[in-house]
Amino acid sequence: MIVGLTGGIGSGKSTIARIFIFIKIPVYVADEASKNLLDTDKELQQKLVNLLGNEIREGDKINRSAMASIIFNNKELLQQVNALIHPAVGEDFKTWYKLQRAPYVIREAAILYESGTDKDCDFVISVSAPEEIRIARVVKRSGITEEEVRARMKNQWSQEQKDARADYVIKNDNSESVIEQVI
Ligand code: ADP
Repeated sequence: MIVGLTGGIGSGKSTIARIFIFIKIPVYVADEASKNLLDTDKELQQKLVNLLGNEIREGDKINRSAMASIIFNNKELLQQVNALIHPAVGEDFKTWYKLQRAPYVIREAAILYESGTDKDCDFVISVSAPEEIRIARVVKRSGITEEEVRARMKNQWSQEQKDARADYVIKNDNSESVIEQVI
């Protein structure tokens, strides 16, 4: 059984994922997997170079910040890049999932709904926190500016949309215990 775990940037997905890992539930992190594939998947790398040019190459890897600066503010290119990366992550997930023996696994992705990955999940959990709390957390975590966090949020569904679609919502706004909610 596959349980999707999503939520806006700074909602606390990674934090909640760590609680699941602690109770021995396998967690697949889409963001980590895509970074790993950009470093190692030759076929994916070639497709991206064909789309964006040789300047995104760095040795035998893809330079993610070079890629980000090209696709930043270009919705069409961002979509084309996603259309290459998502199927590769999907295949990688399938391979990983076959190896798992737990009663269920967690599939964590910020853009679970945006990428259509929710269709592969039996249930979806949305981790929820108000925008102001999320921005403050990300500024503190990464040292990026409020404007940069807001720019990233623009490419994602709103927290409300995610919460409305999800089967379960974990409230991570400091009002109740997240561990109890996970259990
Ligand atoms: P996401 O993966 O959704 O972007 P994170 O799990 O990385 O969010 O959380 C963002 C930041 O907020 C991290 O530094 C994390 O430690 C902190 N954080 C998240 N949830 C809580 C919480 N319940 N209490 C305190 N800090 C939290």
